[in-house]
Amino acid sequence: MTRIILYFAFCCMLAAAGSVQSNPPITIRAARVLDGRGGLRRNAVVQIDGGRITSVGPKAGAVTYDLSTLTLLPGFIDLHVHIGWHFGKDGRMDNRGETADELALAGAANAWATLIGGFTTVQSVGAASDVPLRDVIARGVLPGPRLVTSVRQINERSGAPRGQGGPPPIATPDQLRQAVRDAKEAGADLIKLFASASIRDGGKQTMTDDQLVAVCGEARTLGLRTLVHAHSPESIKAAVLAGCTQIEHGVFATDEVLKLMADKGVYFDPNIGLVLQNYLENKPKFLGIGNYTEEGFAAMQKAMPINFEMFRHALRTPNLKIVYGTDAVAGAHGRNIEEAIVRVSECGQKPMDAIVSLTSLSAESMRMTDAIGAIAPGLQADLVAVDGDPLTDITALRRVVFVMKGGRVYRNTR
Ligand SMILES: [Zn+2]
Repeated sequence: MTRIILYFAFCCMLAAAGSVQSNPPITIRAARVLDGRGGLRRNAVVQIDGGRITSVGPKAGAVTYDLSTLTLLPGFIDLHVHIGWHFGKDGRMDNRGETADELALAGAANAWATLIGGFTTVQSVGAASDVPLRDVIARGVLPGPRLVTSVRQINERSGAPRGQGGPPPIATPDQLRQAVRDAKEAGADLIKLFASASIRDGGKQTMTDDQLVAVCGEARTLGLRTLVHAHSPESIKAAVLAGCTQIEHGVFATDEVLKLMADKGVYFDPNIGLVLQNYLENKPKFLGIGNYTEEGFAAMQKAMPINFEMFRHALRTPNLKIVYGTDAVAGAHGRNIEEAIVRVSECGQKPMDAIVSLTSLSAESMRMTDAIGAIAPGLQADLVAVDGDPLTDITALRRVVFVMKGGRVYRNTR
Protein backbone atom coordinates (compact mmCIF):
# COMPACT_ATOMS: atom_id res chain seq x y z
CA MET A 1 0.00 0.00 0.00
CA THR A 2 2.76 2.40 0.99
CA ARG A 3 4.58 1.62 -2.24
CA ILE A 4 1.44 2.41 -4.25
CA ILE A 5 1.00 5.73 -2.47
CA LEU A 6 4.66 6.57 -3.03
CA TYR A 7 4.32 5.63 -6.68
CA PHE A 8 1.38 7.99 -7.15
CA ALA A 9 3.16 10.72 -5.22
CA PHE A 10 6.14 10.28 -7.51
CA CYS A 11 3.96 10.48 -10.64
CA CYS A 12 2.31 13.62 -9.32
CA MET A 13 5.72 15.15 -8.75
CA LEU A 14 6.69 14.36 -12.31
CA ALA A 15 3.46 15.80 -13.63
CA ALA A 16 3.94 18.90 -11.52
CA ALA A 17 7.47 19.30 -12.83
CA GLY A 18 5.93 19.59 -16.29
CA SER A 19 9.04 19.33 -18.39
CA VAL A 20 9.85 15.83 -17.13
CA GLN A 21 8.60 13.10 -19.47
CA SER A 22 6.87 10.58 -17.22
CA ASN A 23 5.86 8.07 -19.91
CA PRO A 24 7.97 6.55 -22.65
CA PRO A 25 6.71 7.00 -26.23
CA ILE A 26 4.06 4.52 -27.38
CA THR A 27 4.28 2.76 -30.74
CA ILE A 28 1.47 1.01 -32.60
CA ARG A 29 1.93 -1.15 -35.68
CA ALA A 30 -1.08 -1.79 -37.93
CA ALA A 31 -1.66 -3.70 -41.16
CA ARG A 32 -3.30 -0.61 -42.65
CA VAL A 33 -3.32 2.99 -41.46
CA LEU A 34 -6.11 5.12 -42.92
CA ASP A 35 -5.12 8.67 -42.04
CA GLY A 36 -8.63 10.17 -42.27
CA ARG A 37 -7.61 12.50 -45.09
CA GLY A 38 -7.82 9.89 -47.84
CA GLY A 39 -4.37 8.38 -47.36
CA LEU A 40 -3.54 4.70 -46.84
CA ARG A 41 -0.28 3.19 -45.59
CA ARG A 42 0.35 -0.51 -45.22
CA ASN A 43 2.27 -2.06 -42.35
CA ALA A 44 2.97 1.30 -40.75
CA VAL A 45 3.92 2.35 -37.23
CA VAL A 46 2.38 5.30 -35.44
CA GLN A 47 4.41 6.85 -32.64
CA ILE A 48 2.79 8.73 -29.76
CA ASP A 49 4.38 10.90 -27.13
CA GLY A 50 2.66 12.96 -24.46
CA GLY A 51 -0.79 12.07 -25.83
CA ARG A 52 -0.03 13.29 -29.33
CA ILE A 53 1.00 11.61 -32.55
CA THR A 54 4.66 12.29 -33.30
CA SER A 55 5.26 10.24 -36.44
CA VAL A 56 3.71 7.84 -38.92
CA GLY A 57 5.91 5.62 -41.04
CA PRO A 58 7.71 2.35 -41.50
CA LYS A 59 9.64 1.12 -38.50
CA ALA A 60 11.18 -2.23 -37.71
CA GLY A 61 11.46 -3.80 -34.30
CA ALA A 62 9.30 -4.14 -31.24
CA VAL A 63 6.23 -1.96 -30.71
CA THR A 64 4.02 -1.26 -27.70
CA TYR A 65 0.86 -2.46 -29.45
CA ASP A 66 1.20 -4.89 -32.32
CA LEU A 67 -2.05 -4.54 -34.29
CA SER A 68 -0.50 -5.97 -37.42
CA THR A 69 -3.69 -7.73 -38.52
CA LEU A 70 -5.91 -4.67 -37.96
CA THR A 71 -6.81 -1.35 -39.62
CA LEU A 72 -5.99 1.80 -37.67
CA LEU A 73 -8.09 4.94 -38.16
CA PRO A 74 -8.46 8.31 -36.45
CA GLY A 75 -11.04 8.32 -33.66
CA PHE A 76 -14.51 8.67 -35.12
CA ILE A 77 -16.55 11.88 -34.79
CA ASP A 78 -20.34 12.14 -34.46
CA LEU A 79 -21.61 15.69 -34.94
CA HIS A 80 -25.17 15.07 -33.81
CA VAL A 81 -25.94 13.13 -30.66
CA HIS A 82 -28.23 13.62 -27.68
CA ILE A 83 -25.84 12.17 -25.14
CA GLY A 84 -28.27 12.20 -22.23
CA TRP A 85 -31.25 10.51 -23.91
CA HIS A 86 -31.94 7.11 -22.41
CA PHE A 87 -34.66 4.67 -21.51
CA GLY A 88 -35.70 4.96 -17.89
CA LYS A 89 -36.30 2.29 -15.26
CA ASP A 90 -39.58 1.29 -16.85
CA GLY A 91 -37.83 0.91 -20.21
CA ARG A 92 -39.60 3.95 -21.69
CA MET A 93 -38.21 7.22 -23.10
CA ASP A 94 -40.22 9.26 -20.63
CA ASN A 95 -37.65 10.33 -18.04
CA ARG A 96 -39.93 12.56 -15.98
CA GLY A 97 -39.59 11.84 -12.29
CA GLU A 98 -35.98 10.73 -12.54
CA THR A 99 -33.53 12.26 -10.10
CA ALA A 100 -30.60 14.40 -11.22
CA ASP A 101 -28.30 11.57 -10.13
CA GLU A 102 -30.10 9.09 -12.38
CA LEU A 103 -29.90 11.48 -15.33
CA ALA A 104 -26.19 12.05 -14.74
CA LEU A 105 -25.46 8.33 -14.59
CA ALA A 106 -27.39 7.73 -17.82
CA GLY A 107 -25.26 10.37 -19.57
CA ALA A 108 -22.08 8.77 -18.24
CA ALA A 109 -23.20 5.33 -19.43
CA ASN A 110 -23.97 6.68 -22.91
CA ALA A 111 -20.59 8.41 -23.02
CA TRP A 112 -18.83 5.15 -22.22
CA ALA A 113 -20.82 3.17 -24.81
CA THR A 114 -20.04 5.82 -27.42
CA LEU A 115 -16.32 5.87 -26.66
CA ILE A 116 -15.78 2.11 -26.81
CA GLY A 117 -17.73 2.11 -30.08
CA GLY A 118 -14.81 4.08 -31.51
CA PHE A 119 -16.18 7.62 -31.20
CA THR A 120 -13.61 9.81 -29.50
CA THR A 121 -15.44 13.10 -30.20
CA VAL A 122 -19.15 13.91 -30.20
CA GLN A 123 -21.23 17.02 -30.50
CA SER A 124 -24.36 16.97 -28.32
CA VAL A 125 -27.30 19.12 -29.39
CA GLY A 126 -27.95 19.50 -26.53
CA ALA A 127 -29.10 19.78 -22.90
CA ALA A 128 -27.98 21.54 -19.73
CA SER A 129 -26.91 18.20 -18.25
CA ASP A 130 -24.27 17.93 -21.02
CA VAL A 131 -22.18 20.64 -19.37
CA PRO A 132 -21.03 18.79 -16.22
CA LEU A 133 -20.55 15.63 -18.31
CA ARG A 134 -18.42 17.52 -20.84
CA ASP A 135 -16.33 19.04 -18.09
CA VAL A 136 -15.80 15.86 -16.07
CA ILE A 137 -14.68 13.97 -19.20
CA ALA A 138 -12.35 16.81 -20.15
CA ARG A 139 -10.77 16.62 -16.70
CA GLY A 140 -10.05 12.93 -17.28
CA VAL A 141 -12.18 11.89 -14.30
CA LEU A 142 -14.72 9.90 -16.30
CA PRO A 143 -14.14 8.00 -19.57
CA GLY A 144 -16.01 9.39 -22.56
CA PRO A 145 -15.57 11.04 -25.92
CA ARG A 146 -14.45 14.64 -26.20
CA LEU A 147 -17.79 16.39 -25.87
CA VAL A 148 -19.01 19.74 -27.11
CA THR A 149 -22.57 20.86 -26.57
CA SER A 150 -25.18 23.40 -27.59
CA VAL A 151 -26.59 23.17 -24.01
CA ARG A 152 -30.08 23.93 -25.38
CA GLN A 153 -32.03 24.21 -28.63
CA ILE A 154 -33.39 27.45 -29.97
CA ASN A 155 -36.73 27.64 -31.77
CA GLU A 156 -39.09 30.37 -33.01
CA ARG A 157 -40.32 31.01 -29.45
CA SER A 158 -36.99 31.08 -27.61
CA GLY A 159 -36.46 34.14 -25.45
CA ALA A 160 -40.09 35.31 -25.63
CA PRO A 161 -41.61 35.83 -22.18
CA ARG A 162 -44.10 33.16 -21.20
CA GLY A 163 -47.62 34.51 -20.55
CA GLN A 164 -50.45 33.05 -18.47
CA GLY A 165 -50.47 29.40 -19.54
CA GLY A 166 -50.08 28.18 -23.10
CA PRO A 167 -46.91 28.29 -25.15
CA PRO A 168 -44.81 31.48 -25.20
CA PRO A 169 -45.51 33.85 -28.11
CA ILE A 170 -43.34 34.00 -31.23
CA ALA A 171 -40.01 35.62 -30.36
CA THR A 172 -38.78 38.89 -31.81
CA PRO A 173 -35.34 38.97 -33.47
CA ASP A 174 -34.01 40.85 -30.42
CA GLN A 175 -35.32 38.18 -28.06
CA LEU A 176 -33.70 35.50 -30.20
CA ARG A 177 -30.37 37.31 -30.19
CA GLN A 178 -30.61 37.44 -26.40
CA ALA A 179 -31.39 33.70 -26.36
CA VAL A 180 -28.16 33.08 -28.30
CA ARG A 181 -26.16 35.17 -25.82
CA ASP A 182 -27.81 33.32 -22.93
CA ALA A 183 -26.85 29.96 -24.45
CA LYS A 184 -23.24 31.05 -24.72
CA GLU A 185 -23.38 32.29 -21.14
CA ALA A 186 -24.66 28.86 -20.08
CA GLY A 187 -21.58 27.25 -21.64
CA ALA A 188 -22.66 26.47 -25.21
CA ASP A 189 -19.87 25.59 -27.65
CA LEU A 190 -22.26 25.99 -30.59
CA ILE A 191 -25.86 26.94 -31.29
CA LYS A 192 -28.53 24.40 -32.28
CA LEU A 193 -31.73 25.77 -33.76
CA PHE A 194 -34.90 24.57 -35.42
CA ALA A 195 -35.74 26.07 -38.81
CA SER A 196 -38.38 23.42 -39.48
CA ALA A 197 -40.75 21.11 -37.67
CA SER A 198 -39.87 17.53 -36.84
CA ILE A 199 -40.25 14.88 -39.54
CA ARG A 200 -43.07 13.48 -37.38
CA ASP A 201 -44.89 16.80 -37.91
CA GLY A 202 -44.19 17.19 -41.62
CA GLY A 203 -40.90 19.13 -41.53
CA LYS A 204 -42.25 22.53 -42.69
CA GLN A 205 -40.37 25.78 -42.01
CA THR A 206 -41.11 27.09 -38.50
CA MET A 207 -38.66 29.97 -38.06
CA THR A 208 -39.04 33.01 -40.30
CA ASP A 209 -36.20 34.21 -42.49
CA ASP A 210 -35.71 37.24 -40.17
CA GLN A 211 -35.56 35.00 -37.12
CA LEU A 212 -32.92 32.82 -38.78
CA VAL A 213 -30.85 35.89 -39.61
CA ALA A 214 -31.10 37.01 -35.97
CA VAL A 215 -29.97 33.66 -34.51
CA CYS A 216 -27.22 32.80 -36.99
CA GLY A 217 -26.01 36.41 -37.19
CA GLU A 218 -25.70 36.76 -33.42
CA ALA A 219 -23.97 33.37 -33.17
CA ARG A 220 -21.50 34.41 -35.84
CA THR A 221 -20.74 37.63 -33.92
CA LEU A 222 -20.00 35.51 -30.84
CA GLY A 223 -17.82 33.12 -32.85
CA LEU A 224 -20.25 30.21 -32.50
CA ARG A 225 -21.19 27.72 -35.20
CA THR A 226 -24.88 27.14 -35.99
CA LEU A 227 -26.42 23.71 -36.54
CA VAL A 228 -29.85 23.98 -38.06
CA HIS A 229 -32.51 21.29 -37.91
CA ALA A 230 -34.18 21.64 -41.35
CA HIS A 231 -36.20 19.22 -43.47
CA SER A 232 -38.09 21.22 -46.10
CA PRO A 233 -36.22 22.83 -49.02
CA GLU A 234 -37.57 26.26 -47.99
CA SER A 235 -36.21 25.96 -44.47
CA ILE A 236 -32.81 24.76 -45.74
CA LYS A 237 -32.61 27.61 -48.24
CA ALA A 238 -33.60 30.22 -45.66
CA ALA A 239 -31.02 28.90 -43.16
CA VAL A 240 -28.22 28.87 -45.73
CA LEU A 241 -29.05 32.41 -46.90
CA ALA A 242 -29.18 33.54 -43.23
CA GLY A 243 -25.51 32.58 -42.86
CA CYS A 244 -26.01 29.47 -40.70
CA THR A 245 -23.05 27.10 -40.90
CA GLN A 246 -24.49 23.56 -40.95
CA ILE A 247 -27.73 21.86 -41.94
CA GLU A 248 -28.98 18.76 -40.08
CA HIS A 249 -31.28 16.02 -41.50
CA GLY A 250 -32.58 17.53 -44.77
CA VAL A 251 -34.95 14.70 -45.64
CA PHE A 252 -36.67 16.75 -48.35
CA ALA A 253 -33.54 18.49 -49.68
CA THR A 254 -33.78 19.07 -53.42
CA ASP A 255 -30.93 19.28 -55.94
CA GLU A 256 -31.32 23.07 -55.82
CA VAL A 257 -30.72 23.38 -52.08
CA LEU A 258 -27.99 20.71 -52.11
CA LYS A 259 -26.19 22.86 -54.69
CA LEU A 260 -26.85 26.00 -52.64
CA MET A 261 -25.20 24.40 -49.58
CA ALA A 262 -22.22 23.39 -51.72
CA ASP A 263 -21.91 26.88 -53.25
CA LYS A 264 -22.02 28.58 -49.84
CA GLY A 265 -19.68 26.11 -48.15
CA VAL A 266 -22.37 25.08 -45.66
CA TYR A 267 -21.79 21.66 -44.11
CA PHE A 268 -24.52 19.10 -44.63
CA ASP A 269 -25.15 16.47 -41.98
CA PRO A 270 -27.82 14.07 -43.22
CA ASN A 271 -28.82 11.42 -40.68
CA ILE A 272 -30.03 8.51 -42.76
CA GLY A 273 -28.63 5.39 -41.20
CA LEU A 274 -29.44 5.17 -37.51
CA VAL A 275 -31.99 7.56 -36.07
CA LEU A 276 -35.16 6.49 -37.85
CA GLN A 277 -34.14 2.83 -37.84
CA ASN A 278 -33.58 3.08 -34.07
CA TYR A 279 -36.96 4.70 -33.47
CA LEU A 280 -38.70 1.97 -35.45
CA GLU A 281 -36.79 -0.82 -33.70
CA ASN A 282 -37.68 0.64 -30.30
CA LYS A 283 -41.18 1.83 -31.15
CA PRO A 284 -42.93 0.61 -27.95
CA LYS A 285 -40.44 2.57 -25.83
CA PHE A 286 -41.34 5.88 -27.53
CA LEU A 287 -44.97 5.43 -28.61
CA GLY A 288 -47.45 7.72 -26.86
CA ILE A 289 -44.86 10.27 -25.71
CA GLY A 290 -45.20 13.76 -27.30
CA ASN A 291 -45.28 13.51 -31.10
CA TYR A 292 -44.23 9.83 -31.06
CA THR A 293 -47.70 8.88 -32.23
CA GLU A 294 -48.80 6.23 -34.74
CA GLU A 295 -48.90 9.03 -37.34
CA GLY A 296 -45.40 10.12 -36.32
CA PHE A 297 -44.10 6.58 -36.74
CA ALA A 298 -45.79 6.28 -40.12
CA ALA A 299 -44.05 9.51 -41.20
CA MET A 300 -40.68 8.14 -40.06
CA GLN A 301 -41.22 4.84 -41.89
CA LYS A 302 -42.02 6.78 -45.06
CA ALA A 303 -39.00 9.05 -44.65
CA MET A 304 -36.43 6.23 -44.70
CA PRO A 305 -36.39 5.52 -48.46
CA ILE A 306 -36.78 9.27 -49.13
CA ASN A 307 -33.63 9.79 -47.05
CA PHE A 308 -31.71 7.20 -49.07
CA GLU A 309 -32.69 8.80 -52.37
CA MET A 310 -31.90 12.29 -51.06
CA PHE A 311 -28.47 11.06 -49.94
CA ARG A 312 -27.73 9.60 -53.39
CA HIS A 313 -28.43 13.07 -54.80
CA ALA A 314 -26.21 14.63 -52.14
CA LEU A 315 -23.36 12.31 -53.21
CA ARG A 316 -23.75 13.52 -56.79
CA THR A 317 -23.61 17.21 -55.78
CA PRO A 318 -20.12 18.58 -56.58
CA ASN A 319 -18.21 20.12 -53.64
CA LEU A 320 -20.94 19.39 -51.09
CA LYS A 321 -19.30 18.91 -47.69
CA ILE A 322 -21.17 15.90 -46.29
CA VAL A 323 -20.20 15.47 -42.66
CA TYR A 324 -21.00 12.71 -40.19
CA GLY A 325 -23.83 12.78 -37.68
CA THR A 326 -26.30 10.19 -36.49
CA ASP A 327 -28.84 12.00 -34.28
CA ALA A 328 -28.18 9.30 -31.69
CA VAL A 329 -30.97 9.17 -29.13
CA ALA A 330 -32.01 6.56 -26.55
CA GLY A 331 -31.23 3.09 -27.87
CA ALA A 332 -28.65 4.31 -30.40
CA HIS A 333 -25.66 5.25 -28.24
CA GLY A 334 -22.74 2.94 -28.98
CA ARG A 335 -24.13 2.09 -32.42
CA ASN A 336 -23.10 5.42 -33.97
CA ILE A 337 -21.12 3.68 -36.73
CA GLU A 338 -24.28 2.23 -38.31
CA GLU A 339 -24.77 5.53 -40.19
CA ALA A 340 -21.54 4.98 -42.16
CA ILE A 341 -22.49 1.42 -42.99
CA VAL A 342 -25.88 2.52 -44.38
CA ARG A 343 -24.34 5.43 -46.32
CA VAL A 344 -22.00 3.02 -48.08
CA SER A 345 -24.07 -0.14 -48.41
CA GLU A 346 -27.49 1.40 -49.18
CA CYS A 347 -26.50 4.56 -51.04
CA GLY A 348 -23.17 3.78 -52.67
CA GLN A 349 -20.89 6.26 -50.92
CA LYS A 350 -17.26 5.25 -51.49
CA PRO A 351 -15.85 3.72 -48.29
CA MET A 352 -12.86 6.10 -48.28
CA ASP A 353 -15.20 9.09 -48.62
CA ALA A 354 -17.34 7.80 -45.75
CA ILE A 355 -14.21 7.47 -43.59
CA VAL A 356 -12.99 10.99 -44.47
CA SER A 357 -16.47 12.31 -43.62
CA LEU A 358 -16.40 10.44 -40.30
CA THR A 359 -13.02 11.88 -39.34
CA SER A 360 -11.21 14.85 -40.92
CA LEU A 361 -14.17 16.50 -42.61
CA SER A 362 -16.23 16.41 -39.43
CA ALA A 363 -13.22 17.80 -37.52
CA GLU A 364 -13.06 20.61 -40.08
CA SER A 365 -16.74 21.42 -39.50
CA MET A 366 -15.96 21.74 -35.77
CA ARG A 367 -12.95 23.99 -36.55
CA MET A 368 -10.73 21.41 -34.84
CA THR A 369 -8.54 20.31 -37.76
CA ASP A 370 -5.37 21.10 -35.83
CA ALA A 371 -6.37 18.79 -32.96
CA ILE A 372 -8.41 15.81 -34.17
CA GLY A 373 -9.72 13.94 -37.20
CA ALA A 374 -6.52 12.57 -38.73
CA ILE A 375 -3.50 10.39 -38.06
CA ALA A 376 -0.82 13.00 -38.51
CA PRO A 377 2.06 14.38 -36.43
CA GLY A 378 0.99 16.98 -33.89
CA LEU A 379 -2.59 15.79 -33.56
CA GLN A 380 -4.18 14.21 -30.52
CA ALA A 381 -3.60 10.46 -30.35
CA ASP A 382 -7.27 9.55 -30.89
CA LEU A 383 -7.03 6.17 -32.60
CA VAL A 384 -9.34 3.27 -33.34
CA ALA A 385 -8.41 -0.16 -34.65
CA VAL A 386 -10.94 -2.38 -36.37
CA ASP A 387 -10.81 -6.02 -37.40
CA GLY A 388 -10.81 -6.17 -41.20
CA ASP A 389 -10.41 -3.75 -44.06
CA PRO A 390 -13.24 -1.17 -44.20
CA LEU A 391 -12.24 -0.21 -47.75
CA THR A 392 -13.41 -3.62 -48.97
CA ASP A 393 -15.94 -4.39 -46.22
CA ILE A 394 -17.46 -1.33 -44.56
CA THR A 395 -18.97 -3.47 -41.79
CA ALA A 396 -15.41 -3.88 -40.46
CA LEU A 397 -16.00 -0.49 -38.79
CA ARG A 398 -18.37 -2.30 -36.43
CA ARG A 399 -15.59 -4.57 -35.20
CA VAL A 400 -13.79 -2.09 -32.97
CA VAL A 401 -11.09 -3.81 -30.92
CA PHE A 402 -8.88 -0.94 -29.79
CA VAL A 403 -9.70 2.63 -28.75
CA MET A 404 -7.21 5.28 -27.66
CA LYS A 405 -8.07 8.87 -26.80
CA GLY A 406 -5.37 11.42 -26.13
CA GLY A 407 -2.80 8.62 -25.85
CA ARG A 408 -4.80 6.68 -23.27
CA VAL A 409 -6.16 3.21 -24.11
CA TYR A 410 -9.83 2.65 -23.27
CA ARG A 411 -10.40 -0.56 -25.15
CA ASN A 412 -8.06 -3.34 -26.14
CA THR A 413 -9.94 -6.56 -26.80
CA ARG A 414 -7.63 -8.19 -29.34
ZN1 LIG B 1 -31.29 15.66 -32.94
